[in-house]
Amino acid sequence: MIATSAARANRGSETAGRTSEELREIVQHVGAELELAPAEHIIEWAFATFGERFCITSSMGDAVVAHLAAKVAPGIDVVFLDTGYHFAETIGTRDAVAATMNVNVITIEPKQTVAEQDAEHGPELFKRDPDLCCALRKVEPLRTSLDGYDAWATGLRRAETKNRVIAPVVGWDAKKKKVKVSPIARWSDEDVDTYIADNGVLVNPLVYDNYPSIGCWPCTRRVAPGDDPRSGRWAGTNKTECGIHM
Ligand code: SF4
Repeated sequence: MIATSAARANRGSETAGRTSEELREIVQHVGAELELAPAEHIIEWAFATFGERFCITSSMGDAVVAHLAAKVAPGIDVVFLDTGYHFAETIGTRDAVAATMNVNVITIEPKQTVAEQDAEHGPELFKRDPDLCCALRKVEPLRTSLDGYDAWATGLRRAETKNRVIAPVVGWDAKKKKVKVSPIARWSDEDVDTYIADNGVLVNPLVYDNYPSIGCWPCTRRVAPGDDPRSGRWAGTNKTECGIHM
């Protein structure tokens, strides 16, 4: 099922959240304890602890975390940021996840359409100021969409880039003031491939077309075999992250 961003904004006010102090205390209490736990157990703990105030975010590169969650947290919200610049394959993967998995896919959109952003900032902002473009189309919409949650899960893995080496399994996201859960933080590339093969998990078809890391089409390039999987993101610039995980 796919819900709209407006529908999600209403649901967020249905239950009161914990204070930042309470959330930080939870992280301090269980963070180290869950560090070596299986991914399903980590998600199960988060769902039991936060209930409907826990969600998954997905960029629809694959549905590994959604698949794990559907087993132990059926019906869980899966938040997808539609920047307006996604490949058709990414939107298709989102639709396939929504149609076939026991999760609640919620599509969040930026305040401005691409046309409105072009009118205010000029066309192709991604070429001139990708940090501002990401702030407007990714960082701010995600921050707003997480208002109704105390905790969010990502598919972040330490093996992906050196910037992600220290991603804790359960950590405190000081900027968003949320508990950030990375259930597959310890997984290697081989772990991911094995889980996908063993469980028939949905994968964005671009992954098999030399796009190991998939973002917006203007900022994503194919990667040569053996190169850093994220080297196709913002290729030719110093930018390596959109800002969501910083
Ligand atoms: S990845 Fe590129 S197109 Fe997408 S929001 Fe960032 S700068 Fe804009």
